[in-house]
Amino acid sequence: MTDNVERVIIIGSGPAGLTAGLYTARGEMQPLLFTGSEIGGQVSLTMEVENYPGFPDGITGPDLIQRMQKQAERFGLRIIVDTVTEVQLDSQPLLIKTQSGKEYRSKSLIITTGARPRRLGVVGEKELTGRGVSYCATCDGFFFRGKEVVVVGGGDAAIEEALFLTKHVNKVKVVHRRDQLRANMALQQRAYNNPKFEFIWNTVVTAIGGDQRVSSVALKNVETGEESEMAIDGVFVYVGHIPNSSLFEGKLEMDEQGYLITDNCMRTSVPGVYAAGEIQDRHFQQVATSVGQGCAAALEVERFVAELEDRAYPGDDGPNAPEELGQSEG
Ligand code: NAP
Repeated sequence: MTDNVERVIIIGSGPAGLTAGLYTARGEMQPLLFTGSEIGGQVSLTMEVENYPGFPDGITGPDLIQRMQKQAERFGLRIIVDTVTEVQLDSQPLLIKTQSGKEYRSKSLIITTGARPRRLGVVGEKELTGRGVSYCATCDGFFFRGKEVVVVGGGDAAIEEALFLTKHVNKVKVVHRRDQLRANMALQQRAYNNPKFEFIWNTVVTAIGGDQRVSSVALKNVETGEESEMAIDGVFVYVGHIPNSSLFEGKLEMDEQGYLITDNCMRTSVPGVYAAGEIQDRHFQQVATSVGQGCAAALEVERFVAELEDRAYPGDDGPNAPEELGQSEG
């Protein structure tokens, strides 16, 4: 374990984390960011981001992340590829432990651990994941060239990814539990105008079948109760997200779905701990909003740490020694 106390640690390397990294680095906070297993978060799995301002022709998710990383590193953001496995938030400095067995202490923390895709929870889903069941069209669409696939869900993600899949597949059958899409109008229009789309309304997938690979889905019409089976080559699931917050259970306030609760300054229930992006935002979940929240968290952290350090060091020769906070600067 290092003796140093960091001024700010950021957990997560999506748009919110990298923006927090950029701002705190420019604010001379010497931020340290843990990426998790790899850099980028969910957006790095997106083939085309069309609604992030400043890129009139769109930009790929990986390209956007690479640019954000480069910009933050230019101002000194330190990025470590490691996963945080434990946090202790009940006293200053905060304690952070990682998978590689290291421990870090920090005056503040910005949590940007994001969210992961929700599973359907039906028979065959787990067994056939990677063998025809996928949560990432960008990653796997290519393998379904000339085939027919089901996309489950009616939100932005389902329709956006289904549109991407039409580049590869012959037919996309959108299975949606209602008779109306949730996706925004622009996406809906593109889907309705695309001859490769077919919609199966008021229907849920109840099982996924196949021996070595997906070969069928069992369907149930929720209006009539009618059950049927349909031959299919692949199933892409887009039924929402689950926040990556298990690390903070019992330590930070969260809502019933596990999203961290923050105020409008991105403060969590523990002083010095902030959260930004999809880990605390069940509503917008846009790259642009995550970037804004990452920025806000960084500005608030700067203020928090400045006040903490002012209290610890009221003047150059102030009486409040670093030991009072158990800190030794380095
Ligand atoms: P979402 O908006 O929550 O949509 C989830 C979809 O899955 C809904 O259509 C929902 O049906 C359906 N669903 C949920 N549970 C289900 C189940 N157990 N069985 C069958 N269907 C189920 O999630 P999302 O599409 O992942 O989007 C999340 C957020 O990211 C949203 O705020 C979205 O706007 C944003 N996003 C934006 C873009 C973009 O702007 N280009 C792209 C991707 C995501 P109901 O409609 O009946 O509830």
